[in-house]
Amino acid sequence: MTDIKGFLKIKRKEAGNRPVHERVCDFSEVEQILNSEDRMLQASRCMDCGIPFCHWSCPVDNLIPEWNDLLYKGDWRGAYERLSLTNNFPEFTGRICPASCEHACVLNINQEPVTIRENEVAITERAFTEGYIKPNPPQRRSGKEVAVIGSGPAGLAAADILNKAGHLVTVFEKDDKAGGLLRYGIPDFKLSKTTVDRRIDLLAEEGIIIRTSAFAGRDIPGTELLDSFDAICIAIGAGNPRSLKIEESEFEGIHYAMDFLTAQNRVNAGQLSNNVNPISAAGKRVLVIGGGDTGSDCVGTSIRQKAISVTQIEILTKPPETRLNDNPWPYYSKTLKTSTSHQEGCERLWGISTLRFVGDGKITRGAEVEDVTWESSGGEYVMKPVEGTRRVIETDLVLLALGFTHPVLEGLLTDIGVELDGRNNVKVNSNLATNIPKVFAAGDSVIGASLVVNAIASGRRAAKEIDRFLKTQS
Ligand SMILES: Cc1cc2nc3c(=O)[nH]c(=O)nc-3n(C[C@H](O)[C@H](O)[C@H](O)COP(=O)(O)OP(=O)(O)OC[C@H]3O[C@@H](n4cnc5c(N)ncnc54)[C@H](O)[C@@H]3O)c2cc1C
Ligand code: SF4
Repeated sequence: MTDIKGFLKIKRKEAGNRPVHERVCDFSEVEQILNSEDRMLQASRCMDCGIPFCHWSCPVDNLIPEWNDLLYKGDWRGAYERLSLTNNFPEFTGRICPASCEHACVLNINQEPVTIRENEVAITERAFTEGYIKPNPPQRRSGKEVAVIGSGPAGLAAADILNKAGHLVTVFEKDDKAGGLLRYGIPDFKLSKTTVDRRIDLLAEEGIIIRTSAFAGRDIPGTELLDSFDAICIAIGAGNPRSLKIEESEFEGIHYAMDFLTAQNRVNAGQLSNNVNPISAAGKRVLVIGGGDTGSDCVGTSIRQKAISVTQIEILTKPPETRLNDNPWPYYSKTLKTSTSHQEGCERLWGISTLRFVGDGKITRGAEVEDVTWESSGGEYVMKPVEGTRRVIETDLVLLALGFTHPVLEGLLTDIGVELDGRNNVKVNSNLATNIPKVFAAGDSVIGASLVVNAIASGRRAAKEIDRFLKTQS
C-alpha cells in the first residue's frame, strides 16, 4: 500500500487552472498538470481501504488503489500498465470525467478526497512522454471482420478491444473526422483535439481502419454492412437534441448548443474561418437555456468569443451546497457544481421557465420567462409558476442546451430495422445484442446521453460480447 500515514501528512493539492484573464483569450486547455513530486505525494494520500469504494464507483472499474500505490513508489510505467488494463483512454477520462470515484473516496467522508482523476491523467501523459505507449497491433488475425458504426468513445473503445483480439475492425464515421463528441462537442479548453488525434492515430497504426465521411444507412446501406461483416457494433451516440416546445424556437438567433459548440470546434481546427462562423456570440448578450454541462460549455465558449454578457438559466431549483440526507456518501453528490466556465463570469439563475421569445421571425428583444417552484405530489415533482414573476431577459443569442432525447433514428436504425426501447434508445439484451442477428450496440445510443467514461465502459462490454459471439461462429 501507499504511505500508511500519507493522508494524515499530505493535504490535497490540485494542479489548478490557468488564470481566468489568460485562459479566456484562447481555447487551450484550462487545467494544468502538477509536477511529478507533488503528484506522487498526492498518490500517497490513498489509504488502500479494505473496500475501495472508488473502484466500486468507477464505471470502468479502474484499479485505483493499485495504480496510486505504484505512482507513489515512482513506478509510473507500472501504474500506466495497471490503468490501461481497465481503461482504453485514460487521457480522456483523466481530463473530463466527473470523477464519481472521488465522491466515493473514503477520505471524502471527513476530508478532501484523493486527486484520483488528476493522478490518472498525469500517469497517462507521462506514459506518452516517455514513449512506452506504442502501437501494439495484434500478432495474429482471426479472419473475422467487425464494423463499428460511430467513432465516439464507445465505438473507439469497442474497436480497440476487438482489434487487440485479432479481428479486423472498420470504424464508419459520418463526420469528416473521428472522435464523436470528443471532437465535435466537447470544447478544446476541456479536451484538446491533439489529445484526441494522438489516440486515434495510435488506433489506426494498430490496424483499425477508420472510414470518415461514411454515413452508415445512407452512404453505406445497412444491408451492405450486414452482408460484408461478421458482426456489427452500433455506437452512434444520442444525437437527437431536446427541443423547447415553443413556437418561436425557430426564430433567427436561437440555436442548438451542439451547432454552436461544433462550429467553434471547427474554427479551432482551422476548418472554418472565424469570420464566417455562422453562430458567433461576439458582441452579443447570450442566454443559455439549460443548466447542465453542455450549457456550461456554451458559457465558456461564449466568453471566449467575447460575448457582452452570458446568462445561464435552469428550470430546476438550485442544488444544495452540501449533501442532503437522501444522497449520502459514497454516492455521487448531487450538489451545486461550479465549472471553470462559470468562474469566468456568467450569471446563473435557477427555477426559471421560458415562456416565449420576443421578436418577429428573429429575436429582437429577448426571452419571456417566469419563476417556477417544484412541489412533490404523489411521488412526482410538479412545476408551479410563481405569479407576478413574468419578465423579459434581454438577449441577442439564445443557445438551447436542453440535453438529448435519443439516437438519430433516420438512417441506420430504421434502415436495418433495429428495435428501440420505450425511450427510443437502441434496445439490447443483457449481452448488448440487438434484435438483428450479429448486431450489437453500445454507448449513448443504448444508455441515453451520458458520460465519456460510461461510453467507454459500454464499448468495452460490447466488444467482449462480440468477441464471444465470433468465437462461437468459428
Ligand atoms: C457539449 C458536450 C460536452 C460534454 N462534456 C462531457 C464531459 O466533460 N465529460 C464527460 O464525461 N462527458 C461529456 N459529455 C458526454 C459525452 O461526450 C458522451 O456521453 C459520449 O461522447 C458518448 O459517446 P458515444 O461514443 O456513445 O457517442 P458519441 O460521442 O456521440 O459518438 C457517436 C458518433 O457516431 C457518429 N454517427 C452517428 N450516426 C452515424 C451513422 N449512421 N454512420 C456513421 N457514424 C454515425 C456520430 O457522428 C458520432 O461521431 C459531453 C457531451 C456534450 C454534448
Ligand atoms: S474514469 Fe472517472 S471515475 Fe474512473 S477513476 Fe478515472 S476519474 Fe475516477
